[in-house]
Amino acid sequence: MATSTRGKLFDKVLIANRGEIALRIQRACRELGIKTVVVHSEADRDAKYVALADESVCIGPPPSAQSYLNIPAIIAAAEVTDAQAIHPGYGFLSENADFAEKVERSGFIFIGPKPETIRLMGDKISAKVAMTKVGVPCVPGSEGALPEDPKEVVKIARAVGYPVIIKAAGGGGGRGMRIVHTEAALLPAVALTRNEAQSAFSNPLVYMERFLTDPRHIEIQVLADGFRNVVHLFERDCSMQRRHQKIIEEAPAPGINSRALARIAERAAEACRKIGYRGAGTFEFLYQADEFFFIEMNTRVQVEHPVTEMITGIDIVQEQIRVAAGQKLRWRQRDIVRRGHAIECRINAEDPWTFVPSPGRITAWHAPGGPGIRVDSHAYQNYFVPPNYDSMIGKVIAYGDTREQAIARMRVALSEMVVGGIKTNVPLHQELLLDEKFLRGGTSIHYLEERLARRKQAAQ
Ligand code: ADP
Repeated sequence: MATSTRGKLFDKVLIANRGEIALRIQRACRELGIKTVVVHSEADRDAKYVALADESVCIGPPPSAQSYLNIPAIIAAAEVTDAQAIHPGYGFLSENADFAEKVERSGFIFIGPKPETIRLMGDKISAKVAMTKVGVPCVPGSEGALPEDPKEVVKIARAVGYPVIIKAAGGGGGRGMRIVHTEAALLPAVALTRNEAQSAFSNPLVYMERFLTDPRHIEIQVLADGFRNVVHLFERDCSMQRRHQKIIEEAPAPGINSRALARIAERAAEACRKIGYRGAGTFEFLYQADEFFFIEMNTRVQVEHPVTEMITGIDIVQEQIRVAAGQKLRWRQRDIVRRGHAIECRINAEDPWTFVPSPGRITAWHAPGGPGIRVDSHAYQNYFVPPNYDSMIGKVIAYGDTREQAIARMRVALSEMVVGGIKTNVPLHQELLLDEKFLRGGTSIHYLEERLARRKQAAQ
């Protein structure tokens, strides 16, 4: 251990989220001896993790806008329960700088970066500008937002080279992006993306990047305290995606030169030092032809954080809490070692082939176990999956000495898993875990979509 960091943590933390991540944060708090307050909507009233919390507060009806996104209700809940800090989880208000600011102005600690950092990284244009400045390589594209002048836009696209992708500065969750293959399609696509960006993110600014045709999605996990101490926890490969949404993640990334990976991870850590980053964060890169290109930074815990926890033994959520309480990081970079391989399958309540959501009552539930298996899920037998939220009902994580062992354990785990009454994407995962190209490792972000298209054709 590099530095001693004893010091008081919080007495009570409010968890401003739901589902598996609310339970995950609750577990971290309980292990640290911190009391928990869970806020919930009417749809989540009967969830077990709500009953397990020391206190719970209903903050509104099922629609997120009236509950999990209801800032005054969440802050009022912190006030009446005397919580000292608020953990936002992922999604919902986790990357909302106004929320972080209001939390702090109301006298609570926001478990995350400073509001100004969230604001800087939340705007993908300002994030790219900031990253370029501190020496992190970005995808070639427009310098800042696209200008109004159509002639200028055409000129920029010619310089970047087709295909290009038009992206909303305020975009997130895989939305607000449009690929353009030809000059004829350019201006209508820019106009459409601007309109969508305005209505979805209240920010019409869009920018342009070269559309990489065969990249992998590689991200670097970082941890920073409030004293400019920063470590990285290596990379994750999240290339298995559908509609820009990750479904399988793993660490380490198979088949990439470890020196190149160490270099980009160190760059990310250095960037954090320079911008005064605090908390857990993720630098997302596209990786193609031995080059890394920054696309965005997530200023919160990620869904896929468990794979990093499995190979490093570090509890990322607990570290978020410690640094928010003002403690120093307990390690220097050289103290951090990784071992083995971990892989995560996101379990969604949806039809495995049509992807139509499948909410409803879970009539039978059996979670897998055994060596190296971790299940992060708030579900149980008789749990009702509400139709109002994201369809993810849990995550199965498998660890092994090698990638082969992790995959073998995942296959066994999924074969044991029983989820009755609703449909899940387990059969899709089972197919992918037998896929030759996936087994070889290193498939691109387009692989799953192409594979699904082939599958559909074969079925016709
Ligand atoms: P979001 O914030 O919505 O997740 P990102 O900028 O992180 O948006 O991009 C999400 C996904 O979109 C990436 O993982 C990748 O699959 C795809 N993508 C984004 N930018 C590019 C690009 N320049 N070329 C190819 N694919 C891209």
